[in-house]
Amino acid sequence: MAILKKIGSFILDFFGFKKNSKYVMKYLNDANIKSSIYMAAIIIILEIWMIIRQLNKYIIPMWDSYEAKGFSSRGDLIFSYTSLYYLFIMAAVAMLVFAIIYLNKFRGKKSFIINIIVGSLCILWIFLLIPEDIVGTNINKITTIMLYSSMPVFGISIIGNAIFFKLKGKNNTILSIVLILCFALVCLLFGIKVGYSDFANIGDVSNPSFNVEKLKMITCFFTMVIFVGCLLIWKPYISILLLTGIFVLFNYFLDSYPDRIFLDADKINYYTFLVALIIVAVTIYHQRVGEARKDELLIYEANYDHLTAINNVKHMIDTISYNHEENPMANVNKIFLFINMVNFRTINAQQGFDAGDQFIIKLANLIKETFKGDLVSRQGDDHYVVFTDDETFMPKLEILNTKIAEMAGNLYILLKVGGYRPKYRENSNRAIDKARYACSDIKHKYGVIYKEYDDQMDEAFNKRQYIISHIDEAIEKEWLVAYYQPVVWSKDHKLCGAEALARWIDPVYGFLSPADFISVLEEARLIHKLDKAMIEYVCKYMRRAIDEGRPVVPISINFSRLDFELMDVIEILGSIINKYNIDKKYIHVEITESALSDDVDYLHKTIVTLKNEGYTVWLDDFGSGYSSLNVLKDFVFDVIKIDMKFLSNFEQNSKTKDIIDCIIQLANRLGMKTLTEGVETEEQSKFLEEVGCGRLQGYLYGKPFKLEDFENKIKNGEIIISKKLL
Ligand code: C2E
Ligand code: MG
Ligand code: MG
Repeated sequence: MAILKKIGSFILDFFGFKKNSKYVMKYLNDANIKSSIYMAAIIIILEIWMIIRQLNKYIIPMWDSYEAKGFSSRGDLIFSYTSLYYLFIMAAVAMLVFAIIYLNKFRGKKSFIINIIVGSLCILWIFLLIPEDIVGTNINKITTIMLYSSMPVFGISIIGNAIFFKLKGKNNTILSIVLILCFALVCLLFGIKVGYSDFANIGDVSNPSFNVEKLKMITCFFTMVIFVGCLLIWKPYISILLLTGIFVLFNYFLDSYPDRIFLDADKINYYTFLVALIIVAVTIYHQRVGEARKDELLIYEANYDHLTAINNVKHMIDTISYNHEENPMANVNKIFLFINMVNFRTINAQQGFDAGDQFIIKLANLIKETFKGDLVSRQGDDHYVVFTDDETFMPKLEILNTKIAEMAGNLYILLKVGGYRPKYRENSNRAIDKARYACSDIKHKYGVIYKEYDDQMDEAFNKRQYIISHIDEAIEKEWLVAYYQPVVWSKDHKLCGAEALARWIDPVYGFLSPADFISVLEEARLIHKLDKAMIEYVCKYMRRAIDEGRPVVPISINFSRLDFELMDVIEILGSIINKYNIDKKYIHVEITESALSDDVDYLHKTIVTLKNEGYTVWLDDFGSGYSSLNVLKDFVFDVIKIDMKFLSNFEQNSKTKDIIDCIIQLANRLGMKTLTEGVETEEQSKFLEEVGCGRLQGYLYGKPFKLEDFENKIKNGEIIISKKLL
């Protein structure tokens, strides 16, 4: 059954019965319009040549004796030998003009008027050129009537398309197909007419006036069918019907000729020609459709978001600038809305990635439905951008908020939207960035769903843009530096390591702390540049210290979740460590807990590889996120760093001590060592030592120091290095 279905589907596709997508249809139609330019140009040249030939051969020799030859006037003489060519030239000129304008997308008033004139001429031409009484054989009459009646349809299609374009701003595909069909019909009928009329005039083969030369006119028929069969692309069933129809019709005309000079032997060649032509036409069709489908796929991939099948931001921006070109007022009174979901990650963490994906898809549909008719796109993750009317969006946002709350059920997912009204012709990328910035401003503000970008934000926004555009320079010119904060054993408070923390000392903004630039660089997906530079700074310092005979301690380096996506952490770490010849044991990789809440497979694998390669992996900020225990369940760390928030109300909250105590017991049970960050008082330090926390870090033992200060403090004994470092 399945095989039969497959065969059926193949046959339908082969003969072109399957409906093509709009894109493929347009692609084929455009290709046909382009081909008709060549066809029309060739026809115009050939017909001018024919008219000159008729002039030399018949008209000039009869110029003085026209009356004797039975013509009422010289005009009559010219007309009867050339009228058919005028008609054909008219069709070709009209097609040529139409095609050129079509491909230039009908811009402007002039094009409209030109098309109306050309279309009208095609209709009028018939009345001008139509012979008073259609003479000749029946066959001649049939072709003449068909030919003359195709022309008005052709002209009407041109006019119709021009009007449609003026009203709707685009071409009408159906009308242009009719137009091409009429043009093809005019060509084919002309082929038959010229081919046959001379053929029919041959006379008796046995007659001495028999002129073999004239037989050659049949090539006109073949030329035309080749034009139409090969240059224009038809669906296979249309090619087959059209070409076979024309061949059969011509065959019928030839057979009706009294002397029967179209012999059986000729017929074999004649129909073989038809079959060959059909094969070529069908092959061209499939080739072109294949190309069009590939193109369509590429365009789709470039403009659509894979998961939700809505447009991506690139497509939105392209459309906005296209609309502006079409109508300079199109983007006035509009607003960009940047839509984000707070806590979206909890879905991934609690229900898995599939549920997260489903939520994102539903969200996309919801936003699209709410902002029907507006440009809606997904920027990745749970971020969407909408370009909408700047006055009517607020009630829509409220509806969206209610629907999202319904959809989220008992999950704590919140809608946050940032808005920005772009200035006239403002760069869309930058405008979306501003809306996004406004959105991030209310990320932690409970109950606020919308914030509009204002002048006050401008300064902070510019600083953010500055960081993004100067990260390379900051690394190159060493505005970025590593500060080192001591880590001590809880037992004797001697130094057992240090944490490298980034600082940016900027010529314009002065001293910048990680809070100013880490999240900015993460959002811009540039954080790996900074972290790679930090590895380099740390290793370089260690190498120099070792070479100069100074003591070194293990250093922990912070890694962002995105580093594992944006660079090959293992490869980069390995190559820098090799470059400076540093022992892997001296580098601790710090990964923050929130990075692991998504349970990303590749992160899992990388951590295992890091450990297998001999690095020590530390879990940073333990207890700060939603899934701390899950992280402990799924990953193995050498050391867990208990988040400094636990100590923030150490004195007031009696539960704090119990919690820290339990965490340390838990870590011990799981075979992991512990460190507590943010130790500021002796009391905290004492307690932590009592409950068995191995390492301590905090202002009590030293703030993050400049390298020079850090080394000086070691040198002058303010900081004492422990004998046991690992
Ligand atoms: P973190 O890794 O948890 O670093 C500890 C932060 O706590 C540091 O802030 C440090 O200065 C601060 N701190 C240490 N002891 C105390 C204390 O006793 N009291 C208080 N109140 N704070 C203390 P900093 O340097 O501002 O860094 C903030 C965060 O930025 C870091 O948190 C880390 O997540 C991130 N970060 C810093 N440098 C880098 C880096 O090179 N790469 C990446 N990816 N992130 C970095
Ligand atoms: Mg850290
Ligand atoms: Mg930390």
